[in-house]
Amino acid sequence: MTSFALPEYVEALEHLVNIDSGSKNKKGADTIADFFEERYKKLGLSVKRFYPSEYAGSCLEIRNKPDSDGIDLLMSGHMDTVFPDGTAARRRFKVENGRAYGPGVLDMKAGLLSAYYLAAALTESGSNISFCVAHNSDEEISSIYSRDWISGLARHSRYGFILEPGRKNGEFVHQRKGLAKFRLEFRGIASHAGVAPERGASAVHEMSRWITELVALNNYSAGTSLNAGTAAGGTVANTVAAYACCEIDTRFAVPEELEKIKAAVQKLSENRFDQRVEVASSISGYRPPMNPSKHTFELMRLVEEVGGSLGMTVKWVSTGGGSDGNLIAAEGCAVIDALGPCGDKSHSDDEYMILDTVEPRLELAFQAVKALEARL
Ligand SMILES: [Zn+2]
Repeated sequence: MTSFALPEYVEALEHLVNIDSGSKNKKGADTIADFFEERYKKLGLSVKRFYPSEYAGSCLEIRNKPDSDGIDLLMSGHMDTVFPDGTAARRRFKVENGRAYGPGVLDMKAGLLSAYYLAAALTESGSNISFCVAHNSDEEISSIYSRDWISGLARHSRYGFILEPGRKNGEFVHQRKGLAKFRLEFRGIASHAGVAPERGASAVHEMSRWITELVALNNYSAGTSLNAGTAAGGTVANTVAAYACCEIDTRFAVPEELEKIKAAVQKLSENRFDQRVEVASSISGYRPPMNPSKHTFELMRLVEEVGGSLGMTVKWVSTGGGSDGNLIAAEGCAVIDALGPCGDKSHSDDEYMILDTVEPRLELAFQAVKALEARL
C-alpha cells in the first residue's frame, strides 16, 4: 500500500470520534455518513445511501462494480457507538503514548476508516475484484433495522471482512457465538400481603422461579450461557406483585442449543408454578452463531500465509460477542472478523486504539485481498 499516511488517518479519526453517533442519534450517523460518502465518491465509487427505517440512521452501500450481481468481498462496519449524546464533548479525542482515546475510537471509527483506506488501496492498485463496503448505524442495537439489507448483500458475496476491532494482542476472530435476548413479562394479581395474601398471585415469585429454572441451563462446556441481566417488579413490600419483567441474554455455539432454551420457556409457560400468573415471552436481538466453514478455514490459511510473508503471526480467537459477521456468515459467506486496528476497553470510558497497529493490519488485509484475487 503506497498512499497510506498515519498523520492523515489520525486527523480523520479525530474528526469522526468527536461526532456523537449513538445508535439513536440519526443526525450523528448522518454526519459520519456525509464524511464517507464524499470520500468514496472522490475515489469514483458508487455510493448508495438510504434509511432502512424511519427510526434508524443512514446506511451506506459502496460498490466498485455496482452492476455486477456477485460481490467477491463484502467489508462491513458500523457507524453507531454505544455512547449517549454529549460524550464526545466531555471526552474529546486525544492521543497519548501511542494510543488514541475517545468514544468509539476503537469500536469502530478506526475500523470504518481502515475499510476506507483498504477500498482506496484496492481502487488505486487497479484491483479487479468486485467489492462492497457496507456501513449501518444500528449494529449496537442488534442491527434491527439494517439486518435484512446486510443479509441480502451477504447472500451475493463470497468473502466477508469485518472491520470490528482487533484484540489487544492482535488476534483476529473466526468464530462468534449466537445470541438472543428473551424478554419475559409476568402478570399476576395484586392483593394486600397481610390481609389477603392467598388472593394474590405474585408476578415476582413466578418470575424468580423461572429465572432459577432457566439459568440452570447454563452449560459452559457446550458454549451455552444464560444471564438474567435485568429483573424488576412489584410496587411495595406489603403488596403481592401484579407485574414483573426480566430480560435474559443467551449465548450459544450451535442453533440447537437455542432450541433447547426455547423449549424450556415453552414448558415453563405450560406448567406455570401459579397458573393465575400470565406470562408473555418474546425474543429480540437474535444473531445466529458464526461458525467457520471449509471456505472460512481456507481463507484463514491464506491470511496466515500472507501474514507470514509480512513477518506477522496471525492468531485466531473465538468469542461470545456478536457482530454483523454473524449475519454475514449465516448466508454462507467465508467471514473473518476483527480486522480493524487493535486496542481494548470497548464500550467504556477507557476505550483505546493502538496507533501502530493501523498500518500493519491494513497491509495484511490489502495483501490478503490481492492473494484472494489471484485465486479467483
Ligand atoms: Zn463494534
